[in-house]
Amino acid sequence: MKIDVLSIFPEMFENVFGSSILKKAAEKEAVAYNVTNFRDFADNKHQTVDDYPYGGGAGMVLKPQPIFDAVTFLSERAEKKPRVILLCPQGERYSQKKAEELATEDHLIFICGHYEGYDERIREHLVTDEISIGDYVLTGGELGAMVIIDSVVRLLPGVLGNQDSPVLDSYSSGLLEHPHYTRPADFRGMQVPDTLVSGNHKKIEEWRMKESLRRTWTRRPDLLGEYPLSETERKLLEQVKKER
Ligand code: SAM
Repeated sequence: MKIDVLSIFPEMFENVFGSSILKKAAEKEAVAYNVTNFRDFADNKHQTVDDYPYGGGAGMVLKPQPIFDAVTFLSERAEKKPRVILLCPQGERYSQKKAEELATEDHLIFICGHYEGYDERIREHLVTDEISIGDYVLTGGELGAMVIIDSVVRLLPGVLGNQDSPVLDSYSSGLLEHPHYTRPADFRGMQVPDTLVSGNHKKIEEWRMKESLRRTWTRRPDLLGEYPLSETERKLLEQVKKER
């Protein structure tokens, strides 16, 4: 996968792309990152990327020209048409499902906004997706782009080892994941559940399934509405409800 980011603060990405799984993914050549300062594409003497809003009012608006030209430049070099993603608090709310969809693409371009927002023609004529990472307003799109890129890259084939497989992660399976414990079995009088130290793999599997259902039912019951329960899961959920 090729990931292009358009930002006027490219230095913000150095540590994020140079650490942990995102760094390893690039080393394994599962992904290549390229961060472009769209100020370099501004066709005016002072390389201005923003201007006053028509109609007056507070805040500056990102001009269309530098962003249109930067996206055109990056798309022309691409073999396949890229997905052009605008970070924006008014966009579609980001989800694991969207991460899975984006992980099937060959090329993503992220546009990070600042100031009051974008000239509307960028939204209307340039982008394929508008994504919000939540119902709150950030100073700029950079942190949002990092969140999306992290969640997509860890899904690319070969990036996570089998041990860290994302299949059972919360939301991937449709449910929240079960609780985890590690050594010691007795930590200051707080015990690990007996089943987990029993060595009985069938029972451990069932415990995990039940606790995943319990977590989902108590914290995110809305997810159960869309989840196709198997017969075993349905029975375990009944037990969970009775235990409550
Ligand atoms: N005036 C805009 C509005 O009310 O919709 C908010 C502009 S915000 C200060 C500046 C930039 O930060 C946005 O253009 C966008 O790129 C980014 N941003 C802010 N909140 C975001 C969110 N929840 N998700 C994704 N990007 C966000």
